[in-house]
Amino acid sequence: MLKTLRRIVQEVNAAPDLKQALQIMVRRVRRTLLTDACSIYLIDSRRAEFILVATEGLNKKLIGKVRLNISKGLLGLVGRREEPINLSNARLHPAFYFYPGAGEDEYSAFLGVPIIHRRRLLGILTIQQREERRFDQAEEAFLVTIATQLAPVISEAESQGALTDLTGFSQPELSELEDANISGIPSVSGIGIGIAVVVYPPADLNAVPDRYAEDIEQEILSFEHALLATRNEITHLSLRLKDSLPKEEASIFDVYLRMLDSQSLGAEVISKIREGLWAQSALRQVIKKHVQHFESLEDEYLRERAIDFKDLGRRVLVYLQAEQTDAVEYAEKTILVGEEITAADLAKVPEGCLVGMVSAGGSSSSHVAILAKALGVPTVMGATGMSIGQLAGKSVIVDGYYGQVYVSPTQQLLTEFAQIVAEEQQLNTKLIELRNKPAETIDGHRVSLLVNMGLAVDASLSLSVGAEGVGLYRTEVPFMVRDCFPTEDEQYVVYRQLLQAFAPRPVIMRTLDIGGDKSLPYFPVEEANPFLGWRGIRVTLDHPEVFLVQIRAMLRANQELNNLKIMLPMVSGVGELDEALLLIRQAYQELTEENESISYPQIGVMIEVPSAVYQAKDFAKRVDFLSIGSNDLTQYLLAVDRNNTRVAGLYDPLHPALLQALNQVVVAGHSENKPIGICGEMASDPITVILLLAMGFDSLSMNSKSLPKVKWVIRNFTLEHAKRLLAEVLQMDDPNLIRFHLEKFLTEAGLGNIIRAVKR
Ligand code: PEP
Ligand code: MG
Repeated sequence: MLKTLRRIVQEVNAAPDLKQALQIMVRRVRRTLLTDACSIYLIDSRRAEFILVATEGLNKKLIGKVRLNISKGLLGLVGRREEPINLSNARLHPAFYFYPGAGEDEYSAFLGVPIIHRRRLLGILTIQQREERRFDQAEEAFLVTIATQLAPVISEAESQGALTDLTGFSQPELSELEDANISGIPSVSGIGIGIAVVVYPPADLNAVPDRYAEDIEQEILSFEHALLATRNEITHLSLRLKDSLPKEEASIFDVYLRMLDSQSLGAEVISKIREGLWAQSALRQVIKKHVQHFESLEDEYLRERAIDFKDLGRRVLVYLQAEQTDAVEYAEKTILVGEEITAADLAKVPEGCLVGMVSAGGSSSSHVAILAKALGVPTVMGATGMSIGQLAGKSVIVDGYYGQVYVSPTQQLLTEFAQIVAEEQQLNTKLIELRNKPAETIDGHRVSLLVNMGLAVDASLSLSVGAEGVGLYRTEVPFMVRDCFPTEDEQYVVYRQLLQAFAPRPVIMRTLDIGGDKSLPYFPVEEANPFLGWRGIRVTLDHPEVFLVQIRAMLRANQELNNLKIMLPMVSGVGELDEALLLIRQAYQELTEENESISYPQIGVMIEVPSAVYQAKDFAKRVDFLSIGSNDLTQYLLAVDRNNTRVAGLYDPLHPALLQALNQVVVAGHSENKPIGICGEMASDPITVILLLAMGFDSLSMNSKSLPKVKWVIRNFTLEHAKRLLAEVLQMDDPNLIRFHLEKFLTEAGLGNIIRAVKR
């Protein structure tokens, strides 16, 4: 069965379009299960109807025409129950509904299974049989398995707008729509109103958007340059590896060169360009055709050639994209939209132009969302049902409070949202008045409020809200927006600017923290489990040449200012810490020997992994301060990938296990008389801040937009009150209960308007 299943999935994936993919699916399922009919219905959510999109056994002329209300009939029942319905005689069932002309009157047995993707019902897969019989358990299991495989294919097609290709399917044509609504995860609160600017990941053939050529000859020229560059690269590779590779393996390069021949692949792409496509789409289409052909072959060796085509296509695309550096045209009010937006995409938007962000992938704890938060850019992550390409140039409202995106909104909706923006500004102005007041509770307990920074451009924003310093500067961002590792002098300039902007306030610079979901374009790390792999300090300890250059740049930038503190990310044991401290000492000594008058800064360590929680005391003995990275600590303690939309609902910083861990680390740090801060996103949530206050954190570091709200909460509370609340919460075992309890407490304390401003 598994082999058959794989084969079906392979064929479906190789189909040129969704319509054919679904038709292949029903044909193969019918043949495998020896049933009389197999059909697929998808949901047309705008009309709340199931629509027949593929069938073998029913009247094919009705594909795209059979439309059934989603609450009616047996399909409705399967959808409602979200489980298989297996009937030996469907006609006897009270929910049976007979669509005239479809040919269903011939069938008795019915098995329908829901097609569900991430808890969302996309459609129903059915099989039917003339004679009365109950499908057996193996058949049912097979159909359920097929439906689970089909779900992501349909969801992806939906996100690429391919559902419109299905006959008569009325997937929202965004150009025609007003108020088209896309849902996702509310990730950065606030409202953004602007124009969608779509960004595509580089070197990904599948992500190349379809476009017509503006200048056919120019496209051909660019393609020929890219082809030549790829040939040179492969020839060079082949020469370099000639002696070290066995002859047979080395012959792959000759195969590549032949495939690249301007008479074969090259000629095909050029002919597509002549038909009017721009070079990148032409290349994508030709490569896809060859890949599909090879993948459909029986011979395993030949099937493997599909990989060569993909690889070749990607190599040519890299050069083509370098040739055609697609000058993204940013709107004055840009809403950045993409399948998987990166920090680099974010950083490229001209200053002052970014008003919102919508990403199909990721979650609110993804790094790019955190950066957006630092910039105060309303964001929706994990947006589903979105056709990226279709959004380009559309007017869009991003509602970061509720995770909604409105495309081509009506004037009325625009007015309503403009009103919310105005109210928000009013509240902020009120809060900003607290700028020069301390973050001190009514009973005199003071805590230091710092900001997290990634993009140097927000320094002025942080100062304007009264930040007492920088609690986390994510140095990886300047590394991400370059083509190679920045030199010591380049880094010096960036760090110096930041230290100067905040002096005499302290600036905690974290050493390079790449890996996980943060990669450098010029230093790719491919791993099966990137968050558990080569990340943070693990990378930099393996590359002292990178680490030392960074430390030297930091130390030099600190000359005369003396407001630098250095912090180490992802440390999981004292061995790593000792090694890193030695390297820092080495950089310091080298500079001193070079006659630079530098001072030795305070060094701190992040508590981000569970092992660090238990070794917090050992760490505290070795360094000057601790800082909890609660974003990663939540992910590792709860085993929830912070970047995975599917499990985003499980990622909860109010989980009792996390609260216990935080409490424990504060006690450990203080027992060694070392200050302890927190720089994860939970420090910016006014609701959790009360608990952090009561635990005894010395500093809270957050995005600058949240700082005024957090300060307001602190100034309206007593430490005594907070401690009582913490004691109660630490007795609770359920994050939902804890949240409810905190909200109730804050509302009773008269701080309800802040909760509403956070949640709206
Ligand atoms: C954290 O993990 O909480 C943290 C502050 O670091 P980052 O979000 O950059 O991983
Ligand atoms: Mg982290």
